[in-house]
Amino acid sequence: MMLDRAAAERKDPDWVAEQLRDPRSVVVAATRDSVLLDATTEPRLHRAAGPAARLIGAADEAILLGLDSDGAAVFAIDLERHAQEALVAGARLVALRDAGTLLSHGEGGLAAYTIALLSWHRVSGFCANCGAATDVMEAGYSRHCPRCGRTHFPRTDPAVIMLVAHDETVLLGRRQGWPGGRYSILAGFVSPGESLEEAVVREVREESGIECSHPLFVASQPWPFPSSLMLGFTARSDGGEPRALDGELEDVRWFTRDEVAAALAGEESSLQLPPSVSIAHLLLERWATGRLGDY
Ligand SMILES: [Zn+2]
Repeated sequence: MMLDRAAAERKDPDWVAEQLRDPRSVVVAATRDSVLLDATTEPRLHRAAGPAARLIGAADEAILLGLDSDGAAVFAIDLERHAQEALVAGARLVALRDAGTLLSHGEGGLAAYTIALLSWHRVSGFCANCGAATDVMEAGYSRHCPRCGRTHFPRTDPAVIMLVAHDETVLLGRRQGWPGGRYSILAGFVSPGESLEEAVVREVREESGIECSHPLFVASQPWPFPSSLMLGFTARSDGGEPRALDGELEDVRWFTRDEVAAALAGEESSLQLPPSVSIAHLLLERWATGRLGDY
């Protein structure tokens, strides 16, 4: 579900108060890594019936995610700070990593949005500039420091994830602690002062010793651990012997297109790839089916 984030309306406290009192308004809830899902119906975020004011304490602390397609307000509540029996009744907490495989694309996006915004508020109660307590503004879009006047916004950290191809092979690595046989494409955070393309080349070199070129953007995915935006790229390589260099990976090597296609098709395979909701899966599937052009 794509919410209307009501960027203009949310600046008006009277309008926000009206939404809180509206019986059509609903509340979704999350912890730092889990979301509340309906226990019975098809997998979707649990929407506690409104008016939201019934569940949300002080109106000036209300966090509005947006308006759904019917125009009803969707608020978010942090279960780390407000454990509420009424809210949890008839629902179950599911880790986002697991929820991601259950939820539709739209509901998964709403879950990521909820966790990212609540996580930011949880750590932003005090001004990073002067240390004074900050106030929620714009129904949760920003926070303001009454002492030094600075406004703080949620941040999104760009991370690159890249499918590096060489002839009919692709570079995959495995992190320590992953389930047996699990491999994925390489990824890493963008450094200050670096372009996305530079980050792709640097991360691949640091993690595998492999040189790549011609990074090309394909698609992106919000990812709330912590508050990242995963930017999916493809890149070309002339090959070489990969080596796990920086301690993050325990193994890195080339896999053939046939091996990847078999794993994607769920055939008996020693190779296990990331779940279908992930951008890594999307890139691998496009590559395996020849839909990434020259890559
Ligand atoms: Zn301040």
